[in-house]
Amino acid sequence: MGKSFCVAIDGPSSSGKSTVAKSVARELGFFHIDSGAIYRALAWWMERQTEAIPNLDCFSYHIVEKGGKLFHYVGNIDVSSEIRSPYISQRSSEIAVLSAVRKKVNELQREIAKGRSVVIEGRDIGSVVFPHADVKIFLTADLSERARRRYEEFKQKGGVHTLEEVQKDLLERDTRDRSREDAPLVQCPDAYVVDTTEMTVGEVIEKIVTLTKRRKASSFWRFLVGEKRSGASAVYKIIVFCSLVLYKIFFRLEIKGIENYPEGALIIAPNHSSFLDPPAIGIACPNEVHCLAKSYLFENKLIGSILPKINTHPVSGDAGDLGVLKRISEFLLKGKQVIIFPEGTRSETNEVAPLKRGVALLASMAKCRVIPVGIKGAYEAWPKNKKFPRLFCKITVIFGKPLDWKDYEKKYSNKKQMQSEFTKDLEEAIKALSSCDKS
Ligand code: C5P
Repeated sequence: MGKSFCVAIDGPSSSGKSTVAKSVARELGFFHIDSGAIYRALAWWMERQTEAIPNLDCFSYHIVEKGGKLFHYVGNIDVSSEIRSPYISQRSSEIAVLSAVRKKVNELQREIAKGRSVVIEGRDIGSVVFPHADVKIFLTADLSERARRRYEEFKQKGGVHTLEEVQKDLLERDTRDRSREDAPLVQCPDAYVVDTTEMTVGEVIEKIVTLTKRRKASSFWRFLVGEKRSGASAVYKIIVFCSLVLYKIFFRLEIKGIENYPEGALIIAPNHSSFLDPPAIGIACPNEVHCLAKSYLFENKLIGSILPKINTHPVSGDAGDLGVLKRISEFLLKGKQVIIFPEGTRSETNEVAPLKRGVALLASMAKCRVIPVGIKGAYEAWPKNKKFPRLFCKITVIFGKPLDWKDYEKKYSNKKQMQSEFTKDLEEAIKALSSCDKS
């Protein structure tokens, strides 16, 4: 049996999570867990307790599958319909701010998910309940569109609420979900954002299924085969293959957020604190990539003969120099993908140093996308001040959501501002990725 797989879908109320999660689970043959239903069932149960602070250990919840449908049970009572009432919607949102409640529901979710592949939906799945989820999706839509959908749903069930009431209720729940202290609704930096405002349900499902299949296929074996590097030279493929095996054995390399990885001209922008970073990122990228190295490295005969074979190009000066910028933008304009460490050099500490402006400048020249990447564990394995690496430390490479230069052109009128906002957002994203999910 293969490893169980976890797709975490988070997002605000009525963003379409339930409908989508249900269908995605069906298409992939995974089990569907609706964490909101557990909060709702618990709210329903708490309403029926006489104590001011009921003992949550007495709450018994389970899911029963009948004819391909899931039914929610509290003890032996089927509460599937009752928990969907507007009153329980509000009550579940109110009790969800309590840490004891969240702890109980988290335990239940982990128990249900144990040993099986799941699609699980909620508010804090990717951030708290399953921070190691294989695919993290943040589903969202405009408030008015979400209200319209919820209103239509109520109308079909014969509900008496007006559109304004439904919108007010959603806004209240959104605010509570986003502002509570324990596990607020947040968009994880390594989550793939799907804005469903102008998408059909079918489109959203297809997108998530495709992303998940891509993530599944991008497992170790697919990297070994190097399917997406088919255009690269044999030597490149063999070196990447061998490095991957070595990194897997000696650094237990893990690659996350691969569903965020785009095709076409791209700057790959990771944090940099160790000699182990360049190979790690080269291996982690599913496509053939190029990178730059200081020209003195090419003076060594052995290294100088290997580097060009792995698409490493000599440059003198740093990424802010005109000659270097020109060289890289030539690659980008040909649709190639280039790794650039935007801090300029290896950081002395494990902290991300302020980014240089080079990457924003390049993105503006090539009008391309930049994918922020967090590399974790490489500093612990081989910091700048150590002569030799420490083996068997874990290194994780996490791809975030790409920033598109074209979005900044639309948003700002002044080029300087575009570049500074772009650099600021990129720095924030790299910091979040290299520090998130620390466990
Ligand atoms: O998703 P649904 O609307 O069914 O969830 C009911 C309530 O449970 C939400 O309003 C939210 O406050 C809470 N919830 C949560 N964390 C989750 C899922 C739901 O706080 N993972």
